[in-house]
Amino acid sequence: MKTKTLNKNKVNVITLGCSKNLVDSEDLITQIKGNDIAVTHESEEDDANIVIVNTCGFIDLAKEESVNTILQYADVKKAGGIEKLYVTGCLSQRYKDDLEVAIPEVDAYFGTMEMPSLLAKLEADYKHELVGERVLSGPIHYAYLKISEGCNRTCSFCAIPLMRGKHVSKTIEALVKEAENLARMGVKEIMLIAQELTYYGLDIYKKRELPRLLDALCEVEGIEWIRLHYAYPSKFPLDIFDAMARQPKICNYLDIPLQHADDTMLERMRRQITQKEQRELIKIAKEKVPGIHIRTTFLVGHPGETEEEFQSLCDFVSDMKFDRVGVFQYSHEEDTSAHDMEDDVDSETKAERANRIMEIQNSISLDNNETLVGQTLKVLFDRKEGEFFIGRTEFDSPEVDNEVLVSAKDQYVRIGDFANVLIESAEDYDLYGRVVS
Ligand code: SF4
Repeated sequence: MKTKTLNKNKVNVITLGCSKNLVDSEDLITQIKGNDIAVTHESEEDDANIVIVNTCGFIDLAKEESVNTILQYADVKKAGGIEKLYVTGCLSQRYKDDLEVAIPEVDAYFGTMEMPSLLAKLEADYKHELVGERVLSGPIHYAYLKISEGCNRTCSFCAIPLMRGKHVSKTIEALVKEAENLARMGVKEIMLIAQELTYYGLDIYKKRELPRLLDALCEVEGIEWIRLHYAYPSKFPLDIFDAMARQPKICNYLDIPLQHADDTMLERMRRQITQKEQRELIKIAKEKVPGIHIRTTFLVGHPGETEEEFQSLCDFVSDMKFDRVGVFQYSHEEDTSAHDMEDDVDSETKAERANRIMEIQNSISLDNNETLVGQTLKVLFDRKEGEFFIGRTEFDSPEVDNEVLVSAKDQYVRIGDFANVLIESAEDYDLYGRVVS
């Protein structure tokens, strides 16, 4: 591979992991750009002389992907394709010492809170005036808004607090400013994310303030949809539902990761809630916000999960008929409390249990989708793929939920625009239709 002799630095940022990491990369790119340094995100061109890999350390698979990506760029560096390689993000926060030994080709490793030190390596300053500004790396009609960092909960299986620390909320003023900047850039939909959305405000305002934040964000001109992700179910502040009911901009959509439904398992997982309380919460949600669509995620194969306990989860999924469901397989993460237990559910059983949940959900989702045939739904179009324009309703988040497909052969829609679509047919997770206005 050729050796570059570039006079000016150009940085390529690679992002792995979740939407929260993507927001961190966008903040980093904004800072680099604000220092007049050329920067790209996941560029295919090989014209950058510096690469920053923003890693994920969530579960085994994610760690493996991050390590492989670092190794790939370490090889590029050894071959002279880049001059500097830096690594940041969750994996680096968690395993910095090990990584320094294992992959010494990396010039420096940084934790999740060390952006100023990373910028210093690039001879750039951390510019406080840029906080709240964001260069978007993906489509410009939607963006994630990270309202807090970290988590104070102690779920048995979760390594996130080890990597992201205690809960720190951003102020309402800072978030409104960030949303205004996003709206000026063309963003129409913001997705509120946090490790634990419902805790918002307890640290800085001494009370849960998500409803007040939502009311303030609804005032931002240009933002048409506000979507809520990752609401912890225990001690759920019910006034969130009142805000959802009174504010038309808040999507009738709530992502509540329940993780399990068997009481013994919920206790083992330290979820501070029972199945009865979970059922009651969902019932209240449906009463207070008619038409609300609930997304949830479950974790299967946690230490100690018996077939009987898993079956109780299956019964719950069948009975509750959630609108959207995701399933994760347990990963044995050191320094979590579950790590002290034996990882006694083998990987085949974990995979089989995950499939069983999704099989139940497939038919629920198909039944739900079939009821939509003949209805006209407001759709926000995200992209064109092959012969279809692909969009989402307010009940669907990008990348994880259902999609609406419109044939691009005989109709045209602009990406980033809303349109009303008459639904003509349905599959498990896709709806097909045509634009009517
Ligand atoms: S609430 Fe979520 S982020 Fe916090 S410890 Fe539990 S699973 Fe992890």
